[in-house]
Amino acid sequence: MSPAPLLEVNGLVKHFLIRGGLLGGITGRVRAVDDLSFTLARGETLALVGESGSGKSTVGRTILGLTPLSSGEIWLDGTRIDQLSRGRMRQLRQRMQIVFQDPFSSLNPRLSVRACLAEPLTNFGLARGTAARDARIFELLDQVQLPRAALDRRPHEFSGGQRQRIAIARALAPHPDLIICDEAVSALDVSVKAQIINLLVDLQKELGLALLFISHDLAIVEHLTHRVAVMYLGKIVEIGPRDEVFSRPRHPYTEALLSAVPQPDPAAKRRRIVLAGDIPSPRNPPAGCRFHTRCPYAFDRCRSEVPELRGGTDHRFACHLDAFPRRA
Ligand code: SF4
Repeated sequence: MSPAPLLEVNGLVKHFLIRGGLLGGITGRVRAVDDLSFTLARGETLALVGESGSGKSTVGRTILGLTPLSSGEIWLDGTRIDQLSRGRMRQLRQRMQIVFQDPFSSLNPRLSVRACLAEPLTNFGLARGTAARDARIFELLDQVQLPRAALDRRPHEFSGGQRQRIAIARALAPHPDLIICDEAVSALDVSVKAQIINLLVDLQKELGLALLFISHDLAIVEHLTHRVAVMYLGKIVEIGPRDEVFSRPRHPYTEALLSAVPQPDPAAKRRRIVLAGDIPSPRNPPAGCRFHTRCPYAFDRCRSEVPELRGGTDHRFACHLDAFPRRA
C-alpha cells in the first residue's frame, strides 16, 4: 500500500468574480482553476506545467491560503487546511513555503542576508537565542552553497542565481515539508538555471521535501520531476509519471508542449507543433474540450462534450481520442 500523500487537492475550484456597473454587481467570473485534483507524496516532485494563463500559479497560491478557494478541499498530512482560521493557517505556513520567480518579491531589499534568514526563525519561534539562531543561519547558507561572507550583504549585491539561493534558504528556514516553486528558475540564465535545479534536487533528497514545481517550460522540469501534471485553461489535461508523459504523451496539448523541448540527440528531433492562436480567456472558456479551438485533431464531439480524465491509475488524460496521429 502506498503511503498517505502529504498534500491532497480534491476538486479545487477558484473563480475570481468580476464586479462592474454602477452598483458594483457581479458581471462575470474568471474561471482560473476548475475542478482540479492531485496528490503529492513526501520526497516527491510534481511539476505543474502549462502556458501563462493556465491557472497553475493560482493553484499554488490557493494551497498556501494566499487566496481563498471557491470550492474543493485541500489536505496537508491528514488535516483539511482550506477551512482553517487565519491564525491556524499562519502556524501551518511553517510547513509550506514558496519560492517565487522574482526573489525581490520575497526578500526585503533593506535587510541583510542574516536578517532575511533570521526573520522566519523569529516569526515561527525557532532557534531561541543568538547562538542557536546563528548556527541555523550558517547551516542554511551551507545548504544553499553560499559563503558566510554573504551574511552582511543585501539582496541587490548578489547575482540573480545567488538571490534565488537566498530565497531558497529562507524557504528552508522553518523546516518545511512542502515547497512550492512558482517559476523559480524561469528568469535565470541557462547555466544558472541548471545549477539551481541541481541544488533543489540535492536538497529534496537530503531533506525529504515535497516539491510542487510550477513552470511554463516542460524542458526545465524534465530532469527534476517525478510526475508531471499538464494544465490548460484551469484544468489538468494530463497527469502521469515523467518518463511516460515525456515518451508517450496522451493529450495533444502535451504533445505540442513537448515538441518545443530541445532534444540532445538530433536523430530524435521532434517536429515542432505550433499551436494556432493564444490560450482563450478563462473568463469565457470554450464549451466542450477547452482545447478544441487550438487542437489539430478536434472533431465534432470535442466542441460539445467535456472530456473527463481517464486512463490508468498513474497516467491519466482528458481527450476523446485514444490515440492521435503522432508527428515525430
Ligand atoms: Fe483535441 Fe478533442 Fe482531444 Fe480535446 S478532446 S484534445 S479537442 S481531440
